[in-house]
Amino acid sequence: MKDSSGPRIEILAIGAELLTPYYVDTNSLFLTKQLNRLGMRVVYKTVVGDDKEDLAACIRTARQRSDLIFAMGGLGPTQDDMTREVFADTLEKRLTFHPNLWKQIRLRFQKRGISISEVNRKQAFILEGAEALENPNGTAPGMWIQFDHKIWVLLPGPPRELEPMFVDNVLPRLTGMRRGYQAQTTLKITGLTESQTETDIADLYPGLGKDVRCTVLAAPGQIEIHLSAFSEHGEEEAERMLDQPTSALRSRLGLHVFTSEKETLEEVVGRRLHEQQSTLAVAESCTGGLLGHRITNVPGSSRYFLEGVQVYSNQAKIRLLNVSPALLERHGAVSAEVAACMAENVRKNSGADFGLGITGVAGPDGGTPGKPVGLVFISLASSERTQTEKNLFLGDRETIKRRATQKALDMLRLELREDNPGNPTP
Ligand code: ATP
Repeated sequence: MKDSSGPRIEILAIGAELLTPYYVDTNSLFLTKQLNRLGMRVVYKTVVGDDKEDLAACIRTARQRSDLIFAMGGLGPTQDDMTREVFADTLEKRLTFHPNLWKQIRLRFQKRGISISEVNRKQAFILEGAEALENPNGTAPGMWIQFDHKIWVLLPGPPRELEPMFVDNVLPRLTGMRRGYQAQTTLKITGLTESQTETDIADLYPGLGKDVRCTVLAAPGQIEIHLSAFSEHGEEEAERMLDQPTSALRSRLGLHVFTSEKETLEEVVGRRLHEQQSTLAVAESCTGGLLGHRITNVPGSSRYFLEGVQVYSNQAKIRLLNVSPALLERHGAVSAEVAACMAENVRKNSGADFGLGITGVAGPDGGTPGKPVGLVFISLASSERTQTEKNLFLGDRETIKRRATQKALDMLRLELREDNPGNPTP
C-alpha cells in the first residue's frame, strides 16, 4: 500500500439491476461517506452487471490499481449471484465450506419458520484465508481477505444488510488506516438563486483554507452549501476549522440561512410555531394542498397546525372562505387582494394566530400577458397585519408549486424569527 497518501480505494458495485434506469448504487455513497470520515478517499468506483467475464475483468483491474477494494452485491443464493465464485477463480482462492456458517443460516430460516433450500448452502462457502463478516440482517455473510498487500472486502447488496455490517465489522478494522478526521456542516438557504448565492460568496472561497471544501447544491427554492474540513490531528480540530468559514458565510448570507442542522424549512417553521405557542391555518389554490402536506410531514405538527383548505375554484373561495364575488370579479382570482383575503379569512375561520394564502398560475396553460405562468401571490396574515408578496417563479408546474410553498413557509419563518421587532420573543 502507498503510505504517503493512504490506500487507493476502489468500490465495485455488482448487479445487473444497477445498470438499468431503475436502481441507483447508493451503497457506494454510504461507503464513501464513512471512509471520508476516516480521512480516506475513494479513487475509483465501478458498476458491473452479473456477467462472469466482465466481473473478472473488473477484479483484475482493481487488483492492479487499488489497495483496498470493496465489492458488494451478488452474494445471494441464486444462480445470478456469482460474486463468490468469480472472486475465487480470479484471485485463485479456493472456496471452503464453513459448517458453523451453514448452521447459522439454517437457524435463521428455522426462526422464521421457513424451510431452507439447498441453494442457500453456497452462502456458507468462504474464500480461503478470508474472515467471515457476520450478517445479522440477512443470510449472506460478508468477507474480509488480506493478501499480497491488498485488502478485499465483500459485502451483501441490500443496504439494510450492508450498512450495519460495515459499521460493526468493517469500520473497526479500518481505524488503524485512518488518515485523519473529517467534520461536516451544511448551511441551508432560501430566497436566493444559485447564481445569487455564488456571487454573494465567491470572494470568500480563497479564504476557506486548503483543507476546507465547499460544495453548492441547488434544489427548487433551496440552496445548500456543504462545508467539510479535514484534519490529520483530530475531530475537534476539524470542527474548529469549520468555525470561521461557517460564520463568514452566515454573516454574508444573513437571514437567507434558515438552518445549519439536518432540518427542513417546514421543521424550522414548525419548531418556531411550537416554541412561540402559535398556530397556523392555510388556504391554497394553485399549490393544491402541497403546503399543508409539507407542514403535516413534520411529526408533532398537530400542536400548531389547525387546518388547511384547498380552494381551487372561485366557487370554493367564495363558499369556504367568504371571498366576495365582487373582489374576484374586480381583481381576478390570481391577485394580491384575493391572496390577502384568503389568508385573513382562513385565519379568522380557524381561530389560528397566522393564516397563509396562496393563489397563482402554476401552468403550463392558463397564463396571459398580464398574468403569466409562474405568477403567484402569497399572503401572510396575523392579528396585527397582512403582508402580501407578488412572485414570478420559473419552472414546470411542480417546480412552481414547490417554490410557492417554499416562499410561503419562508415568509412565516421570517415573521417568527426571534429578532423580528414585531415578534414577542418567548
Ligand atoms: P441477497 O442475499 O439479498 O440476494 P446479494 O448480496 O446477492 O443479497 P443482490 O442480490 O446483488 O445482493 O442485491 C439485492 C438488492 O440489494 C438489490 O435488488 C438492490 O435493491 C440492493 N442493492 C444491491 N446493490 C446495491 C447498491 N450498490 N446500492 C444500493 N442497493 C443495492
